[in-house]
Amino acid sequence: AMPPLPKVMKGVLIEKTGGVEALQYKTDLPVPAPEEGEILVRNEFIGVNYIDTYFRTGLYPAPKPEILGREAEGTVISIGSGNKYNIKEGSRVVWLGTGAYAEYSAVSVEKAYVLPEELPAGIGAAALLQGLTALTLIRESHPVQPGDFILVHAAAGGVGLWLCQLLKALGAHTIGTSSTQAKMDEATANGAEFMVNYKTETDFVGKIKEITKGEGVRAVFDSTGKDQLENDLEVLARKGSLVSFGNSSGAVPPFVISRLAPKCLKLLRPQLFGYISTREEYEKYCGELFDFILKDKMNVKIHETYPLADIQRAHTDIESRKTTGKLLLKP
Ligand code: NDP
Repeated sequence: AMPPLPKVMKGVLIEKTGGVEALQYKTDLPVPAPEEGEILVRNEFIGVNYIDTYFRTGLYPAPKPEILGREAEGTVISIGSGNKYNIKEGSRVVWLGTGAYAEYSAVSVEKAYVLPEELPAGIGAAALLQGLTALTLIRESHPVQPGDFILVHAAAGGVGLWLCQLLKALGAHTIGTSSTQAKMDEATANGAEFMVNYKTETDFVGKIKEITKGEGVRAVFDSTGKDQLENDLEVLARKGSLVSFGNSSGAVPPFVISRLAPKCLKLLRPQLFGYISTREEYEKYCGELFDFILKDKMNVKIHETYPLADIQRAHTDIESRKTTGKLLLKP
């Protein structure tokens, strides 16, 4: 039997946008009541994603006050109307939604997924959002072919390490970028074939041209946003794809599309939720992701598991480029 549900819980609230000081750790937040189509989950591991910082600063708008956090793993405490997708009370699930930086979250049953039993604790929350992002980038944004040269920026980051491993599994040649030697080594250990330090390399374009024997790359997966855009346009091969999917250095300013003409380039600006909006798409990609982890033994690199109370330190670390792989929170 489950212990009785408390009325209040620990969680992280932001009342207005700002720096890390806007993150308020509380011990008296109301435990949410699930509405129609929702389940109540007791979170055991919570994923930190760069996107959380955009909701904190206001780069991405959302109503405030808000409990931040977009993913967690935990135990289903109650289900609204019946057993759907084999989700039962006591099931161990991973989920995408809002309000994850808390002990309990009310989440849509549509975005909950029952974890494979053999998956170690914490791996669901460590893998889901960033792994699905990488998977949909290589399947949907630029369907990668064996032999493709692909440029992956921030290759030692959360999404970056996934891209390195998945691209290797597909037989592509990854050229990764990162800002330190330790990060370059981490990305190499996870499958990147070539690494360039984009902070110190003085002839970035020349370096990529040299690696690709003058051809350029088939696609760039760019999560940095404004800083690398000009380089991306230079290093892409004719008919290549510029996939801009993040803003870690700031948002890309308005762009004149005729700049794509000389090389017949494609420009995409995808977001994960647009690729997994139906249950069918979500289940397909979750299934594929956990197969990669369990059958292909992908490395799920966890940078650090922070106590939820240390949320300000976690945000400071991810924004100051000190991390590789995944940051987790433990309530
Ligand atoms: P990361 O672990 O990749 O952390 C961000 C990394 O970005 C840093 O470690 C750093 O690596 C690099 N970076 C480059 N320039 C800067 C800068 N000026 N300030 C800070 N960091 C910088 O985070 P995530 O894996 O969580 O996310 C990666 C990116 O992907 C984010 O931009 C995020 O918004 C985006 N994303 C987009 C999604 C979508 O649906 N469109 C879904 C998921 C993520 P280094 O030091 O090596 O440069």
